[in-house]
Amino acid sequence: MDIRSNEPFWLIKNALPQSYPSLKNSTSTEILIIGAGITGALIAFKLIGEGKKVIMVDSRDICNGSTAASTSMLQYEIDEPLHKLIEQVGLTCAVSSYQNCEKAIKDLKKIVVEVGSHCDFEYKKSVYFASSKKDISFLKKEFDARQEHGFNVKWLPKEKINELGLKAYAAIESKSGAVMDVYKLANDILKYCSKKGLQVYDRTEIAEIKSKKGKTIATTKNDLSIEADHVVHCTGYESIETLKENIVNLKSTFALASEAFETLPQAFKNRIFWNTDSPYLYFRSTGDCRIVMGGGDRDFKNAVRRDALLPRKEKELSKSFKKCFPEIPFIADYSWAGTFGETKDGLPYFGKPDPKKNEHYILGFGGNGITFSVMGMDAILHSINKTPHPYLEYYKFHR
Ligand SMILES: Cc1cc2nc3c(=O)[nH]c(=O)nc-3n(C[C@H](O)[C@H](O)[C@H](O)COP(=O)(O)OP(=O)(O)OC[C@H]3O[C@@H](n4cnc5c(N)ncnc54)[C@H](O)[C@@H]3O)c2cc1C
Repeated sequence: MDIRSNEPFWLIKNALPQSYPSLKNSTSTEILIIGAGITGALIAFKLIGEGKKVIMVDSRDICNGSTAASTSMLQYEIDEPLHKLIEQVGLTCAVSSYQNCEKAIKDLKKIVVEVGSHCDFEYKKSVYFASSKKDISFLKKEFDARQEHGFNVKWLPKEKINELGLKAYAAIESKSGAVMDVYKLANDILKYCSKKGLQVYDRTEIAEIKSKKGKTIATTKNDLSIEADHVVHCTGYESIETLKENIVNLKSTFALASEAFETLPQAFKNRIFWNTDSPYLYFRSTGDCRIVMGGGDRDFKNAVRRDALLPRKEKELSKSFKKCFPEIPFIADYSWAGTFGETKDGLPYFGKPDPKKNEHYILGFGGNGITFSVMGMDAILHSINKTPHPYLEYYKFHR
C-alpha cells in the first residue's frame, strides 16, 4: 500500500539517520516484530527491556511508513470527544482511555530521556477551539464532561482566545499536550535497542505467516523464513491487508510545514491547537520555529488521487490558517499527504484477533496513534503471556 507522499518535512530534516541490512538467511527468534515505525520501536523497547530475543523486519527503510508523515502532536484528547465516547463504550473505558493517553505522554517523555533522543519533545497546552458559533454548546458539553471526570481543563471565552490572535468562539484549554519529531525518536529508539540486542532488517517484506507445532513461521517475499514463538504485527494502516475484520476506515490527509519564523508567534510558544470542524484542523510549532498544520481529510485512500490533490490542498490549508490566525504570516515551505484512518470508537486495537494463533497486533490509529502505541507497550507482555489486562479488554478485536 502507498501510505504517504514523497516529501514529509521530517524525512528532509533528518535525512537517513541509520541504515540496517536486509535479511540474508533464514533464522529463528523468540519474538518477531513486523513493522519498524514508532509502534514497532516502542514494542521492541519494551520487549528488549524484558530480556526477550527480538528480530524486527520492515518492508521499507525503517520508520518510512506513516511515522515519517506524522505531525507528531501528542494529545490525551481522543478523536472521539469524551462525552460521546462515554455513550459509546461506557464510563470506565472512556475515562480510563483519556487518562491513559495523558499518562502515555509522560511515559513517552521518560523514554525520550532514557534513549537520549534530541527529538524536540516539548510539553504544550492543548487548545480545542470552536471555529463556529454553533459548536459552542457542543464544546461546553465536552468541557463539563472533562471537568466532571477530573481533567485539568480551563474554559476560554471568545475574548481570551482572540487575545492569542486566534479567531474562534470558545475553547477548552488543557494542560496535557506535547509535540516532538516522532521520526527522529523512532530512529533513536531502534538505534538504542540495536545496541541492546535487537536485530533489525529493513527492506524485508513478510509475505506469508503460518502456524506449525506451536511455532509461527513468517516467510519473506524472497522465500526466507523466520521461525518465532510469537509474532507482533506493528504494521499500522497496512495491517488491513492481513486482518479479516474491517477495523479502520481509511482516508487521505494532508499536512504543511511553514517557512521558519525568526521567533515563534506568541500563541505557538506553549500551545498546540485543534478545532471542532469535521474533518478537524490542527496546528503546532516545531523545534526550528516553523508551524506545522494538518487536516483537509478526504474520504478516499487512492494514493494517486491523494498526491494529485496536494497542490490544491496546500492552498486550501494555507487559507484556513489565515482564517484562524489572521495576524501570522504563514508561508508554506513543505507539504505532504498520507493515509490516515479512524476506528469506529476512536480507540486502538491490541491483542490477538485469533486466540488460537500466537500473532499479536498493536495498532494505534487516528489522531492519537502515537499515544496509543505507547499504551500498547503495557499490553504486549500480557497478550504474549495470556494474562489479563484492561487494555486487552477495552481494545480487543471483534468488540
Ligand atoms: C499526516 C499524518 C499526520 C498524523 N499526525 C499525528 C499526530 O499529530 N499525532 C499522532 O499521535 N498521530 C498522528 N498520525 C498517526 C501516526 O503517525 C501513526 O499512528 C503512527 O505513525 C503509526 O505508526 P506505526 O509504527 O504503527 O505505523 P507505520 O509508521 O506505518 O509503520 C508500520 C511499518 O510496517 C511495515 N510493514 C507493513 N507491512 C509489512 C510487511 N508485510 N512486512 C514488513 N513490513 C511491513 C511498513 O513498511 C511500515 O514501516 C498522523 C498520521 C499521518 C499520516
